[in-house]
Amino acid sequence: MAYTVLARKYRSQTFDEVIGQDPIAKTLKNAIKTGRVAHAYLFAGTRGVGKTTMARVLAKSLNCLTVDAPTIEPCCKCDSCVAINIGEDIDVVEIDGASNRGIDEVRQLRENAIYRPARCRFKIYIIDEVHMLTVQAFNALLKILEEPPSHVKFIFATTEPSKVIPTIQSRCQRFDFSNISPKLIAEQLKSILKQEKIKYEEDLVLPLAKMANGSMRDGISLLDRLISTGVEPLTVELLEEFLGQPNSEKIYNLIGQIGDNDAAGTLAAAEDLISTGLSEVQIADSLIDYMRDLLVVKSTRLGEGPSRSRTGAESDLLILTAEQKKRAAELAEKFDAAALIYSITALERLRWALKNSDTPRALLEASLLRFALSEHFLNVDVLLSQLQTGSSTAIKKKIVIEDTKPKTPKSTFIPSPVRNFPKETANTTRKEKNSNGASEPRATRDEGRETKDEHRTRTNSQRKNEIINDPAVKTVLIGLDATITGIEEDPTS
Ligand SMILES: [Zn+2]
Repeated sequence: MAYTVLARKYRSQTFDEVIGQDPIAKTLKNAIKTGRVAHAYLFAGTRGVGKTTMARVLAKSLNCLTVDAPTIEPCCKCDSCVAINIGEDIDVVEIDGASNRGIDEVRQLRENAIYRPARCRFKIYIIDEVHMLTVQAFNALLKILEEPPSHVKFIFATTEPSKVIPTIQSRCQRFDFSNISPKLIAEQLKSILKQEKIKYEEDLVLPLAKMANGSMRDGISLLDRLISTGVEPLTVELLEEFLGQPNSEKIYNLIGQIGDNDAAGTLAAAEDLISTGLSEVQIADSLIDYMRDLLVVKSTRLGEGPSRSRTGAESDLLILTAEQKKRAAELAEKFDAAALIYSITALERLRWALKNSDTPRALLEASLLRFALSEHFLNVDVLLSQLQTGSSTAIKKKIVIEDTKPKTPKSTFIPSPVRNFPKETANTTRKEKNSNGASEPRATRDEGRETKDEHRTRTNSQRKNEIINDPAVKTVLIGLDATITGIEEDPTS
């Protein structure tokens, strides 16, 4: 028996089977039940999300021969259903808009459409990639859409709805197909693996589903290719190797070395990845992906509170295996959110530079070293607490100098103007003091208290300035600013 690719073998047959498009299936079922099926539909969405599948299910529902009227549960066994399933029914015509885009094809369609269907209730035209039609073809199509014969239905599918002219759109009922979540894709992949009786490691399914980027067809095709290797059980390592994806443990190792500010370790970890045959751009892409995961771990933890959603490595925003969650949680400790945001944007710029570089390896290594050695990667919270408590030796010195200041004579501070008060007030106080000799000792005491406050204010503002001007903090601030404004960091500043 000829081999059928899994994507075709496991194509959904009924409304209830179409995965990830429940609202659309529900609306269409309702339309059939109430006899309000539109004469033209526009199915929009990226590839592999179920547009053609849904179109075929709708066609079967309208034309199933085992019942007298459209049904929400087509039999999938009658001649009509079977023929529609393989796209070869005489009354359900599937047209590829990309290869039949001219006015002649549409004219021919119009001429055929006036004839009644051969054996079913409706003549249904499914036009895939309808946005590829020429303007003349669209206009010809418009004529029949304006006054379609009652036995004709149109189902247009497109990955680029913005290219479908508005006059066509306004005559269609539009449905936007959403991308399918990796979790739903993973469930389907597991079900297929079970039915195909293929051994696999549990950790394989989620990364595989994630690679499908929301497309069920892509996910199943990937699985098909993996199965064709003949290796069992299927593992993550096999997936990474087979698809030329970076080994996740090696990427984690590289990020760990950067987080540890280990220059030699960073270079060795990069070499380890490059030697597997990966391109520099692929490495940058993976780093972006993995750092995004760390950012999610970090920032969902920041907002920890009464919110019901799970936080940290358990966040629903992450598609990670148990082992990957553990690694991400460990690595997230080495970075702070600002540094991760900075590194992701820097890597995004880097990947463009890498594409145009004649020496991408040197560029990648230089950038990785910059990350590893840069204070960008120092945890700002730790740094600030070190500044406040003086626990770091380098920073401690500054604090020590600061702390000795209160011991210096108060008079040192008297000549300086009282910055926190308007000058006038300060002068007035002094005049009053001068005119009344009796209050002079009290005034001196007040002045003494004022200088204490003043000293405290000065110390605080000095401390603030010190923190802001600390090279490490400054680098982070400049980095953030450069990231936000898109201006590269000035090496001279
Ligand atoms: Zn049927």
